[in-house]
Amino acid sequence: MNEISRGHGGPSSAEVDDASAPDARDAPPLTVPSAESPASAESRVSAQSLPSAPSPRPPLDPAAAAPDTYVLAPYAATDAQSRGRRHPEPPPAFRTEFQRDRDRIIHANAFRRLVYKTQVFVNHEGDLYRTRVTHSIEVAQIARSAAVALRLNESLTEAISLAHDLGHTPFGHAGQDALNECMKPYGGFEHNLQSLRVVDELEERYAEFPGLNLTFECREGILKHCSVRNARNLGELGERFLLRRQPGLEAQIANLADEIAYNNHDVDDGIRAGMIEVGELLDVRLFRRQYDTVVSKYPGLGERRLVHEVIRRMINFILTDLILTTQSNIDAAQPRSIEDVRLQPKPLAALSVAGREEHTELMTFLRDRLYRHYKVVRMTSKARRVLRELFDAFFNDVNLLPTEYRTLAQAAEKARGVDGRARAVADYIAGMTDRFAIGEHARLLDPTERS
Ligand code: MG
Repeated sequence: MNEISRGHGGPSSAEVDDASAPDARDAPPLTVPSAESPASAESRVSAQSLPSAPSPRPPLDPAAAAPDTYVLAPYAATDAQSRGRRHPEPPPAFRTEFQRDRDRIIHANAFRRLVYKTQVFVNHEGDLYRTRVTHSIEVAQIARSAAVALRLNESLTEAISLAHDLGHTPFGHAGQDALNECMKPYGGFEHNLQSLRVVDELEERYAEFPGLNLTFECREGILKHCSVRNARNLGELGERFLLRRQPGLEAQIANLADEIAYNNHDVDDGIRAGMIEVGELLDVRLFRRQYDTVVSKYPGLGERRLVHEVIRRMINFILTDLILTTQSNIDAAQPRSIEDVRLQPKPLAALSVAGREEHTELMTFLRDRLYRHYKVVRMTSKARRVLRELFDAFFNDVNLLPTEYRTLAQAAEKARGVDGRARAVADYIAGMTDRFAIGEHARLLDPTERS
């Protein structure tokens, strides 16, 4: 049964007047795809017209409104093609398996904690900045738009997007790097793997199994990257990293939507914080192109609306590029099942060569001007110190841990030695929100604080 109803799935992308449901009126003349695909000229045409699509609506006809139902492509994830859950469960009554995954993620403790975890700016710096939860929702929005256009499984795409950062430490990438540094002698710390640990083991919500017991397809999507050493311990899920295979298209789309989301919202947050200026961004082609259009179309627009209008068009531009390039790659590869997608030598979801180049240019700009801004660097250096000191204190004396975690650490040490103890401490720290980590640090190391 390939037809899915979107009745349970919240507002469709068409109902949300968002920045990034691709919009035909504003769509730029795209130069997709390029050298990446050998059949570029022909596939470009077929990507835009999709002559043989069995859908009631040609999915890439941007003039058509998104329908409430559509027929999934044969290579989309479906309940019937699913490799199932680790702990068998009866099928859900009024939802698909992937809708159930999404719903479990939304109810997870780790999801709620994302509210108070940093994206780039520490949560207490201002109420308007993205946090991990708003980032995850923006990723889901962008990914769902692409999934619907490509006739992929929207609920699975949404579930993967909402779960992709569940294992993130406090303090963004600085926190992740610091914890990885601390854990180096004990097996390292990878936030993708930690997201998987959260949904497989750490969440405690169900009587019959640990974790959320998500489908294979969702877990496969959450585990974006993984070292070969860790992949060997992951059984079926680790296989693709050893055999150089791909995840399903829903996972590939969520992965690229993550990049698109943070690149664009970091421009917005960076400008809001006064750390980057519109003038500097004019050297960045993705920004410049939309800026010139907006300024000529709406002269005299105030800066806030100007910036937001430019960013919504940037997202639209790159998302349209992603959809058309991916469809063209699909047309060339002709996968007939999700298994065919997994066997491809490289991901089918991709930006065009030109799109990738411009997107990378924006990333480089953000790295140099925002992530290396002295105010951001000060924050990351504080964060690194806080996490290092927390780790050392707990690792050297597990009696400092709250009782529940101390018990876990002692049991883990009994079973797996010092690596087990370190992992339990890392689990405790990774679960912290920014402000909890700051508070815990003070309670542990500041003698004037209550313990
Ligand atoms: Mg992310």
